[in-house]
Amino acid sequence: MRTPLIAGNWKMNNTIPEAVVLAQDICNNFERDWASEVDVLVCPPALDIKPVKTVFEFDRVKVQVGAQNVYWEESGAFTGELSCGMLASAGCSAVIVGHSERRNLFGETNEDVNRKAKAVLAARMTPIVCVGESLFVREAGEAVEYVCSQVEAALAGIDEVEARSCVIAYEPVWAIGTGRTATPEQAEEICAAIRGVLARRYGSDTAEAVRILYGGSVNIGNIELLMAQPDIDGGLVGGASLDARGFLSLVRAC
Ligand code: PGA
Repeated sequence: MRTPLIAGNWKMNNTIPEAVVLAQDICNNFERDWASEVDVLVCPPALDIKPVKTVFEFDRVKVQVGAQNVYWEESGAFTGELSCGMLASAGCSAVIVGHSERRNLFGETNEDVNRKAKAVLAARMTPIVCVGESLFVREAGEAVEYVCSQVEAALAGIDEVEARSCVIAYEPVWAIGTGRTATPEQAEEICAAIRGVLARRYGSDTAEAVRILYGGSVNIGNIELLMAQPDIDGGLVGGASLDARGFLSLVRAC
């Protein structure tokens, strides 16, 4: 049995005071008995991580904190970058790697995503590896093949034990921030294919243990049908994670 995971990606939103208010709002509306049934994670901007973590710890609320990006080197002359060790020491237990905005706006390659995923694993955190096709690829009928090759590339050199600590997030680029969600059937088709890749690489036990999320305009109107799909184990939520009640309504729906 895979525990559902609802992960909020705040993207480049919220100053430190705003982040603290949002975290406090999450605490005030979080129902304690959810903690045994669903994992909840928020990924604030890097500067907000420590203050947000402090709010959750102070209130003893079981919400994990993650980062949106990382660099794979441990330290050194990499101006502007953050290491896994830094993120872990700020309280992160997970890191989003290969988000389509990083790939498309900042030129991240499959090789970069693979290096990042390995570095996150080495630091004993969970990489949330994002994959997803553009509208162009989908309309060419190549979505399954494209996404599977991204998964293969991201997992290169990652062994079975490490793979069990990974989360894969399928986020079709055309559905991110557009209000246009993949249908549950479209999302399930790709998530099942991703599990197929995991099964071929690591065997079916490991494939069954890995959580696969859907992301792309997840909201209260579509979460239940998405979660009802056999290979969808949760959501990576952007816009709808910026409001505490809205975000927690997704947690409740799980
Ligand atoms: P969205 O973003 O929910 O605003 O579409 C999802 C994401 O980019 O992770």
